[in-house]
Amino acid sequence: MRQEGIIVGGGAAGLLAAITAAENGASITILEHMPRVGKKILSTGNGKCNMTNLHMTADCYRSGVAGVPMKVIETFSVEDTIAFFRRLGVLTMDRNGYVYPASGQAQTVLDALRDKADSLGVRICCDSKVLFIQQKAGRFAVKTDAQTYSADFVILCAGSMAAKTTGSDGSGYELAKELGHKIKKPLPALVQLKCKGDFFKAIAGVRVDVKVSLYTMDKNGDRAALLAEDKGELQLTDYGISGIPVFQVSRYAAEALDHRKRVLALIDFMPEMTDDQLFVTLKEQREYLKDRFAGDFINGLFNKKLAALFLKSARIKADQPISEINNKKLAELCQVIKEASFEVTGTNPYDKAQICMGGVDLRDVNHDTMESRLVQGLYFAGEILDVDGICGGYNLQWAWSSAHLAAVSATAMR
Ligand SMILES: Cc1cc2nc3c(=O)[nH]c(=O)nc-3n(C[C@H](O)[C@H](O)[C@H](O)COP(=O)(O)OP(=O)(O)OC[C@H]3O[C@@H](n4cnc5c(N)ncnc54)[C@H](O)[C@@H]3O)c2cc1C
Repeated sequence: MRQEGIIVGGGAAGLLAAITAAENGASITILEHMPRVGKKILSTGNGKCNMTNLHMTADCYRSGVAGVPMKVIETFSVEDTIAFFRRLGVLTMDRNGYVYPASGQAQTVLDALRDKADSLGVRICCDSKVLFIQQKAGRFAVKTDAQTYSADFVILCAGSMAAKTTGSDGSGYELAKELGHKIKKPLPALVQLKCKGDFFKAIAGVRVDVKVSLYTMDKNGDRAALLAEDKGELQLTDYGISGIPVFQVSRYAAEALDHRKRVLALIDFMPEMTDDQLFVTLKEQREYLKDRFAGDFINGLFNKKLAALFLKSARIKADQPISEINNKKLAELCQVIKEASFEVTGTNPYDKAQICMGGVDLRDVNHDTMESRLVQGLYFAGEILDVDGICGGYNLQWAWSSAHLAAVSATAMR
C-alpha cells in the first residue's frame, strides 16, 4: 500500500523532503500555515539565495551533539545538492565557493522546488496551521485549525523562531515538546549586536574591514575568555555592530549573555597591520602632515567619522598641531585603533536574526535516519533541530541534507 506522509512546514527543508518522499512513491501532503510556501527562501542571500558552499567542514556548524551536521551532510552532499537542483532545471554558479542559482534570484530556487512538488502530485495545503500531532495505533493524526489529517509518518520541519514574518514562529518547538522532545533554548544567531556607547549614532553607516574578537568580561570589565573571532566587513549602526563578521560570532554573544555573562567585542580596525607596522605608519603620517592640525591626521587612513572617534578616544584635540603629537600619544592612538572595545548589551531580536541556535535536542533523534527516538515514524529536518551553521549557504545545506535523509528514511521499506 502507498505510504502517506505529512510534512509540517513548507520551507526549504519541507519542500525538499516532500519531493524526495514523493519520488520514493509516498503520497505527500505539506501543511503550511502561511498563505504560500517557501517565504524564507525568498529572503536568503539578499534575494539571491546562497544555496550551499563548496567549502564544507565540521567547524562550519555548531550542534548539541558534535559531528552530527557533517554526518548528515555526507548522506546528501554539496555535490548531490547541486545535482538535485540541476535536475530541477536550476543551474548554479560558484562565487569563491559560495553557490547561488545562476539566475541570481532566490525565486528560481523556490519556483523549481514548488513546480517539482506539483509535478509529483504533492498536495500543498497553505493557510493550515498545525496545532497538534498525535500518534495512535501506528498512525498519526495531524490537526490543523481546519481539519485533521492522517498519515503513516510525519516530517516536522517547521523551522525556528528567526524572521517570524517568513512563518517560523516557534510553534514547531511546541509540537515537538508535546511529543516528548526536549528543546535546547533557542536564541537569535547570525544577528546584529547591540553595544554600549553614546557615539554609535555619529558613526552609523560606516563600513570597514576589521577583525572582531568576542570575549567574556571579568568583574573588573577586563577581557576574560576568548569566545570567537572573525574578519570581514563591519557595519556600524546607531545601536551597535553588524555585518558578516559580527553575524558569525553573534551566537556566542547570545549564549554568553543568556548565561548572564558580560561580553566584550574587541575590534581591530587595522587588521592587516601589526601594532608595530601601524605605529611606523602613524609616525610617517606625522612627518608627512607636520604642517597640519590633528583633526586631519588620520583622514587618509580611515573614514572621517571613524577618524574623529579614534582621535577623541585617544584624547588628541583636533586643533592641536600634528607635529606636537608625541610617540606616547601615537602609541595610545594605535591601541584605540587596534583594540577598540565595546561592551555588548544584547543581540537584536529573533525577528532580525537569520537563524536560531538551539532547538530540538539531537540526543533524542537518530542521526542515521533523522527519526525521533521517542516516537516511531516522526522525523525532523532543518532549522528546528539544534544545529546552526555559519553564514555562507551552510544553513540551507543543513536544511537540504537533513530533509533528504529524513524523507529517504521515512519512505524506506520497514
Ligand atoms: C534574511 C535571511 C537570509 C538568509 N540567507 C541565507 C543564505 O543565503 N544561505 C543559507 O544557507 N541560509 C540563509 N538563511 C537561513 C535559512 O534560510 C534557513 O536556515 C532555512 O531556510 C531553514 O529552513 P527550514 O525549512 O528548516 O525552516 P523555514 O524556512 O523557516 O520553514 C519552516 C516553515 O514551516 C512553517 N511553519 C512553522 N510552524 C508551522 C505550523 N505550526 N504549521 C504549519 N506550518 C508551520 C513556516 O511558515 C515555514 O514556511 C537566511 C535566513 C534569513 C532570515
